[in-house]
Amino acid sequence: MNTLNKLTPGENISVIARVLNKPGSQTVRDKKLIKLKVGDSANIANLVAWAPMHKKILKLNLDKGDLVEIKLGSCPKSHKTTNRPPTITVNPNTILKKISLKNFPSVEECMGIKFLDELEDYRYASARVFISSIYNTVVYFCEKCKKFSEKMCDCGNFPDAIFSISGIFSDGTRTIPFTTLTEDVAEKMTNSKKPGAEKINVKILMEHPFTLFGYLRNEHFYVEDVIEDDFYGAMKGVGSFTKEDEYDIE
Ligand SMILES: [Zn+2]
Repeated sequence: MNTLNKLTPGENISVIARVLNKPGSQTVRDKKLIKLKVGDSANIANLVAWAPMHKKILKLNLDKGDLVEIKLGSCPKSHKTTNRPPTITVNPNTILKKISLKNFPSVEECMGIKFLDELEDYRYASARVFISSIYNTVVYFCEKCKKFSEKMCDCGNFPDAIFSISGIFSDGTRTIPFTTLTEDVAEKMTNSKKPGAEKINVKILMEHPFTLFGYLRNEHFYVEDVIEDDFYGAMKGVGSFTKEDEYDIE
């Protein structure tokens, strides 16, 4: 058995990992999939099963906190050249088993705050950071040209605005550019709704620290969630944390 730091695009992996959230189902381009996050002391990954492989996950009735043994999961080859997050895909050869084991990191330990200088490529982590500059709060993507553009694209089109925060942050050990992955995350980070996106006073974002959950790809941090300040305060007193729901990461 490996650990999740061995996760490499294009290669198979066999690991034991902690289930970090309840499996959720989605439909993407008419295909059903089940997705959940699993972790160990080294990394966190999305465990993804597309229909009909999703039955392998459903059958186990997994819940947060369970331990799952994953034999011959595959790490998508396409992730070699894209900035996608750490992922294990369930394929026809994958064997999944619910197991019990003593001395395996808890959900809280898997989700614990890491220093950015410990973080290698293709790794998820929660980090406590200060934002030192903001590049933009809105981006434009021209659907006609299939590229990011200015407010008015070269083709004369005015694309819809996308609420997205990007800039640079640091936790004292390392300074990294970051981008929010969804408009929900941008809203949570700024405490503003999308229509106000262009008028955000970015200085306010630099006044207090954030606890951000996301992953590193090519020296860039992609933010998937903003963890409430309460979370950090409670995390300081290890063992005193009781608000279970706040560990939900999506
Ligand atoms: Zn265009």
